[in-house]
Amino acid sequence: MVSKRIPLVAGNWKMNFDHLEATYFVQKLVWLLRDAHFDYHRCEIALMPSFTSIRSVQVLVEADHLNIRYGAQSVSVTTQGAFTGDVSADMLAALGCSYVIVGHSERRKYHPEDDANIVDQVRAVLTAGMQPILCVGESYEERRQGIELDFAVGQVHDVTRDLSSDQAAKLIIAYEPVWAIGTGMVATPQTAQDAARAIRNDLAATFDTNVADSVRILYGGSVSSKNAAELISEPDVDGFLIGGAALDTDELAAIARLT
Ligand code: PGA
Repeated sequence: MVSKRIPLVAGNWKMNFDHLEATYFVQKLVWLLRDAHFDYHRCEIALMPSFTSIRSVQVLVEADHLNIRYGAQSVSVTTQGAFTGDVSADMLAALGCSYVIVGHSERRKYHPEDDANIVDQVRAVLTAGMQPILCVGESYEERRQGIELDFAVGQVHDVTRDLSSDQAAKLIIAYEPVWAIGTGMVATPQTAQDAARAIRNDLAATFDTNVADSVRILYGGSVSSKNAAELISEPDVDGFLIGGAALDTDELAAIARLT
């Protein structure tokens, strides 16, 4: 079957950029892409600012009719009420967010986000009409033991086993080996392909080939303009979740053009 998956280049800004810096970044990125005659129908671009910058990105995107999507880096599993410091999925949807990153390894490490909480976040995002970008991936230790594929597929499975096919088809999955995040140690194209293929096979087994063929599987971990072209040439790699390189407009524009 011919793939109709449109590649996605998603910038995860983590805890960087206040709302003024975010505004400047978007303006410069769009200017660079315009200059390069970038085709937004060929490759989608999304930015994940901090909560405090989302509204500024929304205003800019709406005022200038930009073809850029945006989202958040996490979400509360509760809908409203006495949960000091939490931000609900409905609040994010009201800001025009398309995506929410769920289960990033930094959230799993620094916050009490276990498998059950991650499933609840995925459900909250879907219920609010957005798409989760579900992050999975092994640590160096699991890779050393040779269980990396089982581990990543298992993390996906922990979430998908409770979803309907319609819900699963809306997932975006980011395979992000923990040892590659922010380290400069990018996975080889073959490693990224093997993981994406194993995840897609598992989706086909749990649901069907329609679901498996429609879910976009991104690679994340030290992506840059130096390695993006090789990685995206793999048939099951549908784009990138980018940290460090997404803080540089030239790098992000270059990666988007190569994707
Ligand atoms: P990196 O981060 O590109 O800086 O490795 C990726 C991520 O954490 O999503």
